[in-house]
Amino acid sequence: MLDEKLEPIYADVLRRNPEESEFHQAVREVLDSLGAVVAKHPEYAEGALIERLCEPERQIIFRVPWVDDKNRVQINRGFRVQFNSALGPYKGGLRFHPSVMLGTIKFLGFEQTFKNALTGMPIGGGKGGSDFDPKGRSDNEIMRFCQSFMTELARHIGEYTDVPAGDIGVGQRELGYMFGQYKRMTNRYESGVLTGKGLVWGGSRVRTEATGYGAVYFVDCMLRTRNQSFDGKRVIVSGSGNVAVYTMQKAAALGGRVIACSDSNGYVVEEKGIDLDTLKEVKERRRGRVSDYAKLRGPGAVYIPNGRIWDVPADIAMPSATQNELTGQDARTLVKNGIIAVGEGANMPCTPEAVRAFLDANVLFGPGKAANAGGVATSALEMQQNASRDSWSFETTEARLREIMYGIHDRCEKTAEEYGAPGNYVLGANIAGFTRVAEAVRALGVI
Ligand code: GLU
Repeated sequence: MLDEKLEPIYADVLRRNPEESEFHQAVREVLDSLGAVVAKHPEYAEGALIERLCEPERQIIFRVPWVDDKNRVQINRGFRVQFNSALGPYKGGLRFHPSVMLGTIKFLGFEQTFKNALTGMPIGGGKGGSDFDPKGRSDNEIMRFCQSFMTELARHIGEYTDVPAGDIGVGQRELGYMFGQYKRMTNRYESGVLTGKGLVWGGSRVRTEATGYGAVYFVDCMLRTRNQSFDGKRVIVSGSGNVAVYTMQKAAALGGRVIACSDSNGYVVEEKGIDLDTLKEVKERRRGRVSDYAKLRGPGAVYIPNGRIWDVPADIAMPSATQNELTGQDARTLVKNGIIAVGEGANMPCTPEAVRAFLDANVLFGPGKAANAGGVATSALEMQQNASRDSWSFETTEARLREIMYGIHDRCEKTAEEYGAPGNYVLGANIAGFTRVAEAVRALGVI
């Protein structure tokens, strides 16, 4: 519920950002948690501090012209929303997907600011992307698009200014083309300007796996508070991209039975457990679909086109595809089927109604800004390695990631307790993230 002190702030957000429903949703979710904070710390309600946190520092929109393989000129729209830099340079990924609008990037940048604060690392929040659809595009088309996108973006970023990374539709291939263009334009090998780089050109070990691994560590911590673990549990993971694949891998490593995953066309159930080598071959190398995976696996793998993966009975659900992919109805189905824990691998995958249903049913619920923070945290570790011209081993880097995830879990848990809502990780994450950013914003004056 929204505290009456915060009502005018939210009303203002609605008025100034018309028709940006995802942004409204993300802001509302955080404001809903802040009533107790402003009661305890009235100083946070002063100096338009919360208003300033709801207004991006800078929003950049630009044209991205490029030539396709048929020699036709194509136009897309590029975005970079530099949300908040009180804790460090803007940090956050780039998303290439036809659904991307300014409101999408604003919601992601807003979430990113609190997520990054929660990691305890020196990174501000930002996000960018384009409505470009990479699906079905040739490698050359991807390269030309990335080069054109970077030609404009380059003037706005830098290792001390703004450090983009990947997100949906942007992986190592795209980052490679963008880094190449940036290097060419600036004549600088500025490794720290982008993260998620390939290992031989300045990347960090574990970055690829980090979001998924981190989400599983977070859920594992939540399970432990109830003396449970992944061992022997039925796990369903929506999506089949980078986050989903490494969530499945770590969940299986901890003894979980990962029985279903999906893409935007449908889902696959395989009671024996999803075979990750085959899935990676299909997704990463062939750039194929989950239906291709099911075909390769034969009768043991059942493909259900257009279905809802949340109908599959499971103990643990990890929504790892995209925003608002799990509705109130889906949540009620999961609860009815006995779900124990939900960890958001994607950003804002559960609708507000779904989140409420999980909390009401006392399901362990790890919100994205806590559970999926392992990706950006490892990006910050990549920045550390770049700054010191060092490269850490897999073991060292994974140990750091694990420690960071445990730290985030404990911060959320303690904060929730402190505010009289034990076990409510939504409240814990929002308040812990908010207080760290708010402290810095206050200290830096009205800027
Ligand atoms: N796009 C990822 C996220 O949502 C990673 C961002 C980054 O590494 O900067 O957190």
